[in-house]
Amino acid sequence: MSEQEPTDLTGFIAGLPKAELHVHHVGSASPRIVAELAARHPDSPVPKDPEALAEFFTFRDFAHFIEIYVSVVDLIRDPEDIRLLTFEVAHEMARQNIRYAELTVTPYGFTKRGIPDQGVMEAIEDARRAAERELGLVLRWCFDIPGELGIPSAEETARMACELRPEGLVSFGLGGPETGVPRPQFKPYFDRAIAEGLHSVPHAGETTGPETIWDALRELRAERIGHGTSATRDPRLLEHLAEHRIPLEVCPTSNVATRAVTVLAEHPVREMVAAGVPVTINSDDPPMFGTDLNTEYAVAAKLLGLDETGLAELAGNAVKAAFLDTPAKSRLLAEIDSYLASWLQRRSQNGPAGSRPEGNGPIR
Ligand SMILES: [Zn+2]
Repeated sequence: MSEQEPTDLTGFIAGLPKAELHVHHVGSASPRIVAELAARHPDSPVPKDPEALAEFFTFRDFAHFIEIYVSVVDLIRDPEDIRLLTFEVAHEMARQNIRYAELTVTPYGFTKRGIPDQGVMEAIEDARRAAERELGLVLRWCFDIPGELGIPSAEETARMACELRPEGLVSFGLGGPETGVPRPQFKPYFDRAIAEGLHSVPHAGETTGPETIWDALRELRAERIGHGTSATRDPRLLEHLAEHRIPLEVCPTSNVATRAVTVLAEHPVREMVAAGVPVTINSDDPPMFGTDLNTEYAVAAKLLGLDETGLAELAGNAVKAAFLDTPAKSRLLAEIDSYLASWLQRRSQNGPAGSRPEGNGPIR
């Protein structure tokens, strides 16, 4: 192997202990999970045959993604569906060696369709405890406002977050389209959630400009930004994010799927890292965008020119940006360090094949 040829990092990424901070609950339903849900509800129009289902799931364009998303939502009709979905999503995360995940749940999407709020809370909490016990995966929740549904959805989401507050809930978010949905109108609901001790993590600057990110910071007191893709258009904003150590939850493949970024090769993640902004890599709605977190790490390695050490630092960024207590963060960081050390040691014992000179330095 020539020195220029990169090592195949797939195996390293697969075993790397990881944390994921930006991933949606319903958006994580894989064809396998959807097939299980469809079996519970035979009247649904979702294809039952695994091949047809896989075909239905193949990402075509954003409109088709919405079609898949809506048909999955229609399959979630009672607390048992929610429990099944949540635990099986955890299962697929655990298979990728994700050790900690903050899963964005949109409880309003369930309650407005008639599922009792207490049933929703019990279902996710039951799945969370089972995932920790059986899969060794620690799950936490972000409850997000589906912005396009306006103030009533914000009111209901804040009520559920503050009054029913499940044990695993750590943060409060805002999703949905940004155009025509100004962030500042949600300030009272974020104020309420923050007063209850929840962290603020709105989506911002995915499909709109940097002013939306400023709004998220100033009005919603964002501690991390979902996407923040347009931040690179405003050097002062990049400086602010770097100086205040406000992480961006970057989801490369999703950004191309939603056309926030034209092509992967032009993703602004390089500029974000170069400006010293803490960057985390995430999968958003993985099966619906034909990806998973391991694939996103491989994408990031390519975009940022990372070797194993750089990838381990990237995984460490997500742990540092997580809403976890310090001892738990230290344990996870130590796990990443020891995985890297044993990987590098094994490689040096196996001789030069597959080895690679120190590549581009670790990223922040
Ligand atoms: Zn998202």
